[in-house]
Amino acid sequence: MYKLDFELVPDSCWYSNLRSILKPAMWDVVRKDAYARADGRCMICGAKVTRLEAHERWAYDEKTCTQILTDVVAVCHSCHSVIHIGRTQLMGNEDQAIKHFQKVNNCSYSDYIKALGEANKKHQRLNSIGEWKLDLTWLKRFC
Ligand SMILES: [Zn+2]
Repeated sequence: MYKLDFELVPDSCWYSNLRSILKPAMWDVVRKDAYARADGRCMICGAKVTRLEAHERWAYDEKTCTQILTDVVAVCHSCHSVIHIGRTQLMGNEDQAIKHFQKVNNCSYSDYIKALGEANKKHQRLNSIGEWKLDLTWLKRFC
């Protein structure tokens, strides 16, 4: 598995991001906890950056159709652009994302293409599930 990989959210989950679900004060707590753990460095590539972005990590249980929150991490903009490659492609910034993926994972362009193909296949499979239940148990640590 790559250190930096694509995390394509199923289309039916597109709007269920934490920021829109949580009260702003709670989202602030979650996001600041991630920044504190990161200590000024991207938690994926380790780059020292002035601005970190909070990224929600989800696991998908296809048997129970459950989208499970597994972590909120702080990442640099370059890593975040790779993670959400679909959005990045739409904005025309894929070239930079390709370079960053190869650099962080120390791999070739064909590795990138192959990984993207696999991510898209998984995305299609997850999209065949019409409705996802949400498991936010992970957040209990902040209560
Ligand atoms: Zn990074």
